[in-house]
Amino acid sequence: QALLVAEDLVKSFGPTEALQGASVRLGAGEVLAIMGPSGSGKSTLLHCLAGIVRPDSGAITYDGRDLTAMSDKARSLLRRTEFGFVFQFGQLVPELTCLDNVALPLRLAKVKRSKADVEALDWLARLEVEDVARNRPGDVSGGQAQRVAVARALVARPRVVFADEPTGALDSYNGEKVMRMLTETARQNDTAVVLVTHEARVAAYADREVVVRDGKAISRELVP
Ligand code: ADP
Ligand code: ADP
Repeated sequence: QALLVAEDLVKSFGPTEALQGASVRLGAGEVLAIMGPSGSGKSTLLHCLAGIVRPDSGAITYDGRDLTAMSDKARSLLRRTEFGFVFQFGQLVPELTCLDNVALPLRLAKVKRSKADVEALDWLARLEVEDVARNRPGDVSGGQAQRVAVARALVARPRVVFADEPTGALDSYNGEKVMRMLTETARQNDTAVVLVTHEARVAAYADREVVVRDGKAISRELVP
């Protein structure tokens, strides 16, 4: 049973054909790696799947619902309530402590502060960064900040986490650690992960891989 299915996506930016008929499918709890050279359309594909960019044509079905037919308001609600995001550069709120950053999605979902803080601290502990809970993102290492970002992406128990080059700013040791923790904690929660990367080492954490070339996606099963 597929959770997210995209068929024949086409998206142009002016004269640039970013996607020219890309198709992918993702099952619940699966980890999908989107690979390919720079400029091949990986980020555009991720943004379409996450409901951030509307394709010019093609179909996207999420949990039986037609994502392309939804209003902007409905898609933004879906992103807030069912999706999590991790990007290359932390994009944690610099004025907030790491704990408050992780608690933020819960606070936005109207969870009481005391409960949100307990859950946020639990997620920081799972990602082995509970010791930076009181620090601001600017005062922690890149690897720690990225693990805080993973905790924030997972804390509200999304069904899908979208990660765009999540290890791009990290050295290989920290990159592996972030990938291992992202995929392990996602699996424990039956959260699916869609990740964009150009590194084979990062893609090795995926169950399924699509290679984007000139806006077309070619799917490959890594684990039967
Ligand atoms: P990748 O993630 O594989 O590097 P992208 O999806 O970012 O590729 O981009 C694919 C192509 O579309 C590139 O030529 C890029 O410059 C172009 N592109 C992506 N987003 C935009 C945009 N918002 N406006 C104009 N061109 C864009
Ligand atoms: P990536 O490293 O993930 O490929 P890019 O630097 O290509 O990221 O793009 C970062 C953001 O800028 C994306 O949201 C993408 O859609 C947008 N973008 C990419 N190329 C262009 C462009 N030529 N004009 C405007 N926006 C672009």
